[in-house]
Amino acid sequence: MKLTFYGVRGSIPTPGKDFIRYGGNTACAHLSLADGTDIIFDAGTGIRLLGQELIKKDTPVYILLSHNHWDHIQGFPFFAPIYQEGRPILIYPGQTNAPEYDQILKQMSGSVFPVPASALTSDIQLISLPQSQESFTISSAKVCRIPMNHPGKGSAFSVEDDGKKVVYVTDNELYPPYKKETDFLTFVEFCRDADLLIHDAQYMLSDMPAKSGWGHSVAEEAVKLAMACNAKRLALYSHDPERTDNDIDHVVAHCREYIKLTQLPIDVFAASEGQTIAL
Ligand SMILES: [Zn+2]
Repeated sequence: MKLTFYGVRGSIPTPGKDFIRYGGNTACAHLSLADGTDIIFDAGTGIRLLGQELIKKDTPVYILLSHNHWDHIQGFPFFAPIYQEGRPILIYPGQTNAPEYDQILKQMSGSVFPVPASALTSDIQLISLPQSQESFTISSAKVCRIPMNHPGKGSAFSVEDDGKKVVYVTDNELYPPYKKETDFLTFVEFCRDADLLIHDAQYMLSDMPAKSGWGHSVAEEAVKLAMACNAKRLALYSHDPERTDNDIDHVVAHCREYIKLTQLPIDVFAASEGQTIAL
């Protein structure tokens, strides 16, 4: 498997000179299976550039949506393969409180977007699984999902293939002040032995308590999860839109101090646009 980040920013795109190294596009990551199958986590603005690569193919595209917040779907109307005649696009909506499976298409309507979803020439299929369904397969991969702690809820996903495991968890608040959908120890089991854990790390302890309940995790909590689940790598993800490249460097340095104290062999880094991890 090969994972490439196309968008790593939370909430809103952040162009500008202080956001160049990590990138300003919102959530999107591309997982290429050994057999060439294309799986995409989220359809934030990063998916536009990914579309320019995938339009060279005609094979099915699988999109795993965490939830429908705008920063996770707003790139979809600019994803070139949706305009490709007959191209199979299979969308797996997240487990949201309101089961609005078609929100990603509904944004292309009315006065919001000039091209209605009904005019798309690709073969778009919404895979509306029962809310309670925890696993399914895509090609040779086993995909599991679990509800996240986030306003309106959503899904975390794990993909296992060829003896490797990638886990994508955003937007998720590991210790929310509201009723949890999933508790920490259940996340530990879900993420167990991940070769790559991608986890929401939008905040630092210094952001609290002001942002408690906003649906995102503190970076130190993501580190704690990586340590508890025996992850090999931790990608800090969903960077705060106010956090510059230099700020993110500080977050990484801070997290590496924690890891060093434990002497666990975990590679922790901040996800950056264009970064590819071979697994
Ligand atoms: Zn969200």
